[in-house]
Amino acid sequence: MKAAHEGPPAHAKTGCITERILVVCVTQRHLVRLGDCSRLATFFRPANRGAVVREFPFELALCAHLEAHEEAVVARQIGGGVRAPSNRVIDVLCVEPGSEMEARTALTPETVPDRAIESDVGVGRARDPAEAIEGPPERAQRVAERAVEVGFFERAVGGGVRQVARYPEDWFGKLVAVENKPDLATPGDLRTQLRKDVSLALADEVVLATESYVTGAHLNRIPEAVGIWRFDPETGEREVVREAEPLGSDEAGVELLERHPLRTDVAVVSAEEKAHQRRRMAERAYGKGWRVGEFPACDEIESATLEESEGLPYCHWKERIVNPANCGPDCPGHDPADPPEVDVAEVRDGRTPWVAEPEGKARRQSGLDRFG
Ligand code: SF4
Repeated sequence: MKAAHEGPPAHAKTGCITERILVVCVTQRHLVRLGDCSRLATFFRPANRGAVVREFPFELALCAHLEAHEEAVVARQIGGGVRAPSNRVIDVLCVEPGSEMEARTALTPETVPDRAIESDVGVGRARDPAEAIEGPPERAQRVAERAVEVGFFERAVGGGVRQVARYPEDWFGKLVAVENKPDLATPGDLRTQLRKDVSLALADEVVLATESYVTGAHLNRIPEAVGIWRFDPETGEREVVREAEPLGSDEAGVELLERHPLRTDVAVVSAEEKAHQRRRMAERAYGKGWRVGEFPACDEIESATLEESEGLPYCHWKERIVNPANCGPDCPGHDPADPPEVDVAEVRDGRTPWVAEPEGKARRQSGLDRFG
């Protein structure tokens, strides 16, 4: 049996705090869908207003905020390692547009497979994927199929493939990697992670985002090059405590691989390897974005809006944003129902330089039908 939500609205319990937040939010048009300030007060932390916001709601609120205020593609959970790719995942990546952004948006809204970009398949003569794409033939075929699916390759008569358009290498500019740590009282391995990011310097800037008050002791422990934002997910206020220093993203870097009691394994990563990984990260971010893909099949969930960004998974039972990956019959509040229909592409479109439906996509699709 589910616990019921009872008692007065949060603002009745907390006095003017909620009222103040409501004024700030309405003025800055942060929360357009929630007309009731009791909901506003419970958007992130229902039970204990002194509690620190969990990392997932903090991350989504920050992404919504960045989407509203920065001219950049915003994405979550992007691999940020080179020699040890699973070793580092960047919480939030902001990809600023480069000179060829328009050409990239015209190509496809999806991530273009890296092996397809790197292959010998060009825009002219059609090539056999097994010959033009590196790796075993079955994998080369899979890469080609995916590239056709996303609209980067097209099939020619005879089974070969060619690029629909030249890949615009200069579509992205500055990469900003953001590490989220809402509560600096429980830093975990934060310092090591930030040192890794600065030492490898894949991103042009690295920033720590926190909700905590940042003390001098914190500043001393965080690598100097790392910028610091203090972000309040309830009001959407972001204070730049320290500016990030530009990193040598176009030079060789040193990747910290593993720590042992008496030694740390490192690898020197060349400028070329870094450039390759930067493009992979930007591509992944372009296709992925930051919203959750699927909402849970639960009657308690709904799509909420923050800072005019739609598509945040709000749970009525938990009275806060939740991670759908943790939803299911094991949750005591689970109430089976059809998941709400949230068109992620539709709510994302127009909010960043990303384009959901490039012109000519329909034409490419009909081309696929012809040769498929
Ligand atoms: S399953 Fe998810 S949406 Fe449903 S009540 Fe639990 S946390 Fe909320």
